[in-house]
Amino acid sequence: MIYADHAATTALSKAALTAMLPYFTEYYGNPSSTHAAGTAVSRGILAAREQLALLLNCAPREIYFTSGGSEANNQALRTVAAIGKQTQRQHIVCSAFEHPSVLRTLDELQDTGFSVTRLAPNQDGLISAADVQAAMRPDTVAVSVMLANNEIGTLQPIAEIAVGCRARGILLHTDAVQAVGHIPVSVRGLQADLLSLSAHKFNGPTGTGALIARRGIQPYSLIRGGGQERGSRAGTEHAAGIVGMAAALQEKNSDMPKHIAVVTALREQLISGLLELPQVMLTGSPNARVPGIAHFCIQGVESETVLALLDERGICASAGSACAAGALEPSHVLRSMGISGAWAQGALRLSLGADNTPEEVRQIILAVSEIVTRLRKGTV
Ligand SMILES: *Cc1c(COP(=O)(O)O)cnc(C)c1O
Repeated sequence: MIYADHAATTALSKAALTAMLPYFTEYYGNPSSTHAAGTAVSRGILAAREQLALLLNCAPREIYFTSGGSEANNQALRTVAAIGKQTQRQHIVCSAFEHPSVLRTLDELQDTGFSVTRLAPNQDGLISAADVQAAMRPDTVAVSVMLANNEIGTLQPIAEIAVGCRARGILLHTDAVQAVGHIPVSVRGLQADLLSLSAHKFNGPTGTGALIARRGIQPYSLIRGGGQERGSRAGTEHAAGIVGMAAALQEKNSDMPKHIAVVTALREQLISGLLELPQVMLTGSPNARVPGIAHFCIQGVESETVLALLDERGICASAGSACAAGALEPSHVLRSMGISGAWAQGALRLSLGADNTPEEVRQIILAVSEIVTRLRKGTV
């Protein structure tokens, strides 16, 4: 099997698994308990928190563990909404190609009186900081723009957007789920007030993520109950997941330059190979993108057929987001970029990791080329 769907999820790393195993056996105490069994676990969580703070360049107390990226995004926007209600600022700016966990939460906020400006990216799949600036109003409480888009892989100018937000006292949230562990991400460097991440996108476990909230921002608790996570997230902590997430990111960050070089080379091999085919375009900027994600629009074929035929050959790929799979509608990301239906119906996302090889990429190029040629001739 060739796995080229790293943007959907990644395999658990050995380092993460090794770190987690004791938390399924010997360290089973409830971290809120003050006895030895409990403190053994709370110490592990504290160490993971401190490790993650160093890796992300934030303070340990600014980290709030969640069940993943979707929860972190929901929590970030509910936090923004609570602040907006208090300060009578009920306008939020976002990009039109955010992850559904951002867009659906904003839809709900809109139903409760917020107004939302959804900015379209340009043809390169980039949000302009000037457009964000121009969309700001006196009642704007926050901007939410993702760091890396999960379907097409483009990187957004978050640090630049942050400058405009700072100047106007507007909060900035960034969904950094596709960036953390893949490129260097510094919370301080980006100047984001709220940042979401998810362990399973960087070889950590599923079911674990975090919301980073700048000091002075108390994240709104989506879950009522005990006082865990300083009152911002009730429920007994998923210690194994938290420890696994820290170990996974430690490994990623310590090998980052090599990882970026290896994965970028594979991606470039893939892009140049597939662009040899007629009527194929690379979606989004060729340069401003995370190392592993390449997305193509292929004329004259349908995503679902291509994916099924690739799967028959043992190649795991995607049409875009896992959430859009199976839906007949073209993806909201492609629509937001103004890509026509004829191109969008042939969407193919191939997302690579350091565990892929040049030989695998060669096989992917060959398989896609054969499948597309046969489908276009109608001989499948
Ligand atoms: C995967 C993903 C999410 C959701 O993360 P989960 O941990 O699966 O809930 C959010 N945003 C982006 C950009 C993603 O790629």
